Order: sequence, then C-alpha cells, then structure tokens
Amino acid sequence: MIQPQTKTKEKQVRLAIWPHPQLKKPAQKVTEFSDKLVDTAAEMTAAMRHLHGIGLAGPQLLIDQAIVVVDPLIYYADERYAEKNEVKPTTLINPRYESNIDITTKTRERCLSFPDVFVDIERPASINLTFQDLSGKTINGDLFGLAEVDIQHEINHLN
Ligand SMILES: [Zn+2]
Repeated sequence: MIQPQTKTKEKQVRLAIWPHPQLKKPAQKVTEFSDKLVDTAAEMTAAMRHLHGIGLAGPQLLIDQAIVVVDPLIYYADERYAEKNEVKPTTLINPRYESNIDITTKTRERCLSFPDVFVDIERPASINLTFQDLSGKTINGDLFGLAEVDIQHEINHLN
C-alpha cells in the first residue's frame, strides 16, 4: 500500500523520553488564550499523527503547558461507549477529572514516552471531565470507554 505523502515538509518531532525532567514536573497552567495557543495545539496534533499516537500531552513535546490533544477517532472505536460520552474534546486546556463510578477498568496501555513498554493499568471506568477549549470556554461532561482511558492517561502527564 502506498502511504499518502504529507505536503508540508517533514519536521523532526522532539519527544521527551522517560526519565526526561520535563516529564517529572507539573505543567504550567495556560492563562493566555491567543492564536499562539491555537498554533501550539495544531503542532501537537500534527506531532501526535506523525508519531501514530492517539493522545499527547504538552510536556511530552517539551511544551511546559497544561495542554492535551487526543485523536477524535477514539470516540468511535468502541460503540458501547461512543453514545454515552457527553464531551468529544480534541484539544483540552487545563484539564482535570474526577472519578464518578466505583467500577474500575483494566487496559493495556502504552506511552510514546516509554517506548516498547506495555502496562496493564487499572482506572475508574468513568470520569467527570472539566477542561477549557481553545477560546478559554470551560466545558464539563462525563466520559466512558477508550476515550476516557486515553484522556486520563494524558492528563496524568500534566501532574
Ligand atoms: Zn503517555
């Protein structure tokens, strides 16, 4: 199969690999919602696609800001949960979550910053998520399934 070529020139993605110090400290809260933030989110999304990830957090790209990008395709990957997800974010600014269920789910997770490591991680099966969008508007909703696992994973990179 022929892979589609990107029109933009190939950019080297600088990815922080554990134990990079950027991965060990909390990310700075975003306070300015400007065009620069939109550009940063677009760069992070391009890097995520380039690396074939389904989610990426700012610190992984040496961006010391509380920004997470996720692939929207993950919301449709599991039809059991797709309908239940109240929010379908692709860029999350200053995200945080609380567990809202006693049931846990165990998922084999991998992380671009831990190459070749697969770990079974137990997490709450559902979360209540709060974040800001690129305009600074606060959004809240419940999240289930793969999207929820992915977003919990990425938010953990900010803390
Ligand atoms: Zn990760």
